[in-house]
Amino acid sequence: MDRLRDNLHRVRDRIERACQRSGRNPTDVRLVAVTKTVSIDTAAELLDLGVTDLAESRPQELWNKAEALPHASWHLIGHLQRNKIERTLPLVHMLHSVDSLRLLDALEADCARRQCRLPILLEINAGREPNKHGFAPEDLALALDHVQRLHWVEPLGLMTMAALEEDPLLCRPTFALARELRDRMRQILPQAGELSMGMSNDFEIAIEEGATLIRLGSILFEGVSALRH
Ligand SMILES: *Cc1c(COP(=O)(O)O)cnc(C)c1O
Repeated sequence: MDRLRDNLHRVRDRIERACQRSGRNPTDVRLVAVTKTVSIDTAAELLDLGVTDLAESRPQELWNKAEALPHASWHLIGHLQRNKIERTLPLVHMLHSVDSLRLLDALEADCARRQCRLPILLEINAGREPNKHGFAPEDLALALDHVQRLHWVEPLGLMTMAALEEDPLLCRPTFALARELRDRMRQILPQAGELSMGMSNDFEIAIEEGATLIRLGSILFEGVSALRH
C-alpha cells in the first residue's frame, strides 16, 4: 500500500506540473486508474487512497471487479461485444469505447428497455492504426449525425489511443487531432466536453493537448506485488 501511495503521489505531482505548463486547472483532469493487471484487493486499495474512477478493458473483468467494488465509478475502456451489453451497462459509469453505429443502436435499445441514460465517448482512431478499434476521423460526422437521433445514449466526448512510441512527443499530433475533433463535436453537442486520452507513457503530452480523462495503469502499479493471477 505504501508503494501504491508513493506511485500515486508522484503521478499526481506530474499531472499538476503538466497542467501548470499548459495553463490548465488540475481539477479539469480526472485520473482513471486502469486495474486490468491487478487484483480486486489492489483495486480496493486505490479506492482507500481516494481514487474513485476505475477502469477495465475487458467486460468480464469489469463484471468481477465492479461486483466486488460497487462503490467505485467503473469505466469500460475496451471493445464491448453486443452480447455483453446487457450484463455490462448496469455496472458502468462511462463507456469510453463506442466504436460503431451498430454498437450505438444496440446500446440505445438496451438503455431504452431499462429507461436509463448511458454516458458514452466515441472512440476515434486518431492515429489511423489499422489494427485499432474506433471511428476513422473522416467518419466522425456520420457518427455524430447518428448519435444525435438517439435519446438514451448520452455522448459526452471522444476517446483515443495514441500509437505506442518510444518518444511520447510523437503522440502529440494524434492528441491534437483528437482535440480538434472533440471541439467540432462540441459545436453540435455542447455537453460533449470530455477527451479521454493519455496512458502511462504519454499522459503528460495528452494533458498538454487537452485531455480531461487520463487512463493510467502500469505507472500506478510499478513495484506493487499483488498482480492478478
Ligand atoms: C491498458 C490500457 C490503458 C492503460 O495503459 P498503461 O500503459 O498501463 O497506463 C489505457 N487505455 C486502454 C484502452 C488500455 O487498454
